[in-house]
Amino acid sequence: MTDLKGRAAIVTGAASGIGAAIARGFVECGGRVVIADIAEEGGKALAKELGAAALFVRTDVGEQADLENAVTRCVESFGGLGIMVNNAGYAGVFGPIDGLDADGWDQTFRILLKGVFLGCRAAVPALRKAGGGCIINIGSGAGMRAGYGAHAYATAKAAVIHLTSSVALEVAPDNIRVNAISPGFMPTPLATSSLTGTPEEVAGKAKRMRDALIGPQPLKQMGQPQDIANAALFLASEQGKFVTGHNLVVDGGLMAGRAVEMQPAFFFGRRHG
Ligand code: NAD
Repeated sequence: MTDLKGRAAIVTGAASGIGAAIARGFVECGGRVVIADIAEEGGKALAKELGAAALFVRTDVGEQADLENAVTRCVESFGGLGIMVNNAGYAGVFGPIDGLDADGWDQTFRILLKGVFLGCRAAVPALRKAGGGCIINIGSGAGMRAGYGAHAYATAKAAVIHLTSSVALEVAPDNIRVNAISPGFMPTPLATSSLTGTPEEVAGKAKRMRDALIGPQPLKQMGQPQDIANAALFLASEQGKFVTGHNLVVDGGLMAGRAVEMQPAFFFGRRHG
């Protein structure tokens, strides 16, 4: 089993979905976690569930002072910082490019990109002080290829992946590793909250969304937050000690290409050309 004994982490956006799975995984492996989120109810409930190994600190990732406070609280409560996970996010502003709300664009970038920058900025001094550590930024397949997310969301995620490599190069001499994880579709509130209507309509939309997303995916199963937590555990642990500047894609093969039954060769009866 992965061993994070004695390691302290901050996970932004840990009140829900992928962040909550990462926080649970870290604590199950002996680590301690600051749950840094704007969602007080969910954050406090998770901290209660995880007991003395967890602490909720209300944090808006768009605010530098909030992230610095989360680092201070982590150091005071758990004796240092070893792992920073910049995970907080939301779907951002949607719409066609000629009608897209410019303030919504700024707000999307504030949370998805500036939030990751500020998380790295706040964490690096504490990680240096600890003699090294690791940063994990949550990207997205939408940031790797167009057509998997709205303009602002996808562009901000592409920048998160690039920022990850850029920071990794700078802090490698300090023994700080910086990696991204790019999830495929996961059924969390972020992905499903836009499904509205009567319960029957929501169920119908959810099924169509699932079919559309899983159709081109080589592995025909729905990804789960736990799959991302497993990747984060690997990157944060001793097993990941030689990995930095990497974007670990955890998406059932979606970014690798189209599922074999969707390739032209399949229709000619030849699977491999
Ligand atoms: P989620 O909605 O379940 O959780 C997101 C969390 O971020 C929530 O707890 C929310 O309160 C928090 N948050 C939002 N704004 C914040 C802010 N300003 N400051 C602090 N916390 C804030 O969503 P999720 O699917 O678990 O998303 C986690 C990450 O995974 C996001 O970065 C998202 O873009 C990424 N991601 C998700 C999917 C997916 O399909 N669900 C796919 C690819 C990438």
